[in-house]
Amino acid sequence: MIGGREIPPTAGLPLRWSDWIGSRARLEDVLAGQLGTPRLQYECSGTVCLLIALLTLRQRSPKRQRVIVPAYTCPLVVLAIHQAGLQAIPCDLRRDHFDLDEEHLGKLCDEQTLAVIPTHLGGRVADVEAALAHARRHGANVIEDAAQALGARQLDASVGLAGDVGFFSLAAGKGLTTYEGGLLVARDAQLREELAWTSARMLARRSSWELRRLLEFIGYGLCYRPSLLGLVYGWPRRRALANGDPIAAVGDRFAREFPRHRAGRWRAAVAARASERLSSFQSSNATQAHRRIGQLLRIEGVQVLNDEGRTDTGVWPMLIVLLPNQGLRDRILQQLWHSPLGISRMFIHALPDYPELHDLVGNCDVPNARDLASRMLTISNSPWLRDEDFEHIKGEIQAVLQTPR
Ligand SMILES: *Cc1c(COP(=O)(O)O)cnc(C)c1O
Repeated sequence: MIGGREIPPTAGLPLRWSDWIGSRARLEDVLAGQLGTPRLQYECSGTVCLLIALLTLRQRSPKRQRVIVPAYTCPLVVLAIHQAGLQAIPCDLRRDHFDLDEEHLGKLCDEQTLAVIPTHLGGRVADVEAALAHARRHGANVIEDAAQALGARQLDASVGLAGDVGFFSLAAGKGLTTYEGGLLVARDAQLREELAWTSARMLARRSSWELRRLLEFIGYGLCYRPSLLGLVYGWPRRRALANGDPIAAVGDRFAREFPRHRAGRWRAAVAARASERLSSFQSSNATQAHRRIGQLLRIEGVQVLNDEGRTDTGVWPMLIVLLPNQGLRDRILQQLWHSPLGISRMFIHALPDYPELHDLVGNCDVPNARDLASRMLTISNSPWLRDEDFEHIKGEIQAVLQTPR
């Protein structure tokens, strides 16, 4: 039934030939208009956005050294904190969710805390209010990590605006892309000035990096289609899985030094043109997600992370599924991870369990984050995943959950 089609693990916005003409309007202006945010700042990656935010806030409060992060998040967050000369402190999560556990947060947050980073993972809207309440009590800042949530809204405002600073990623696989890129947002005009200033001071033009990114972006534009993704995404993933290296399979292993350079305008002009289709793409993805979540929830034992409360409207790059335990999750992955149907995991481990991060976060007790990592899988919400493919996935999940072992 599959025959040469490979579905990407997330719903990236496909490029069209006409996008390469580019837009005359600047990407950050087009998106600020669409999202209803103040001026956005375009940078070479989400990680560099976070680094800029941290350095800017550190300048304001040089004595504060600690940054509280969810114990389940992108390892790049820890690397950015380290590069800023600060200490990442993993906070456990509330059970079965990405939100910070308030009790643990209350214990960690103190006068040494520079920032707390609530994180809108997988397009879901995080509880920023709780992070703000704890941070404000100790004079700390809140940075919203919205790397995976461009377009998500809370109380009809874009995510990223409730805290002091927010950032979005434009990396491949995160929706709208320039292959690598990021956007910074801040409510306060003075802070926006300072963020721009940090960037201007810190980043130089690096034509070798920009050329490389340009070629990667063109490669992405050519290959981001079901007929070619098997070659560039499916094959390396299956090889990593065969080698017993799940971290490589999801692309979770990063060099400690990440590239920093001024982001090129040409890629941004192409993405600006594509971004005209973003909101209709995201709204049809939302319809597909809600329909499929309804179907998954009919299987006993399956949980799917959804918008909570009536004030949250997330985006849907993928469906995040929690299974009753790791054994069942792993049996399902055994059936589906190597298939071309867009099944994956988000991050493989809770932060303290990455060998590469050991010296940066130490060993801490984060049981809920570890539990979440061990019971989660993701199903692509790409429009290329057809209903018959989804039926097949559902059938495999059902078969595992209904077979006693
Ligand atoms: C991808 C990601 C980042 C880093 O963004 P890049 O653009 O890849 O540098 C940060 N936080 C989270 C949660 C992410 O998923």
